[in-house]
Amino acid sequence: MSSGYLQVKIFCSQLNFVHWLQNHLIPCPFKYITGIDCPGCGFQRSVMALFQGDLQKSFALYPPAIPLLLFFAYGIADAFIKLDTPTSAVKKTLFMFVGSIVLVSYVVKIWGFYVLYKTSA
Ligand SMILES: [Zn+2]
Repeated sequence: MSSGYLQVKIFCSQLNFVHWLQNHLIPCPFKYITGIDCPGCGFQRSVMALFQGDLQKSFALYPPAIPLLLFFAYGIADAFIKLDTPTSAVKKTLFMFVGSIVLVSYVVKIWGFYVLYKTSA
């Protein structure tokens, strides 16, 4: 068995995993009830695009995905190896920063829908 064969096999199993995930995304209850995107809508599809290596598509689907993932990674790393100050100053600052990105992104998205709806009506 060559290393090339192994690489192809790993790549294919990764494709199967991504394909499986694409068919098992969690539907958004807020969107189901209201018909309007919530501030988190698009995150799963964006992460799927990241898994497939499509950075541009990932950003187009949900711009705060990468900052959010980095924030989660920091949170997990901090739980195991204490990285933060005793008052969690870094975590609080990152939370405010990433939260602002999510909020601005959501306002831009909803504003875009509003403009589209106004011009097409
Ligand atoms: Zn949603």
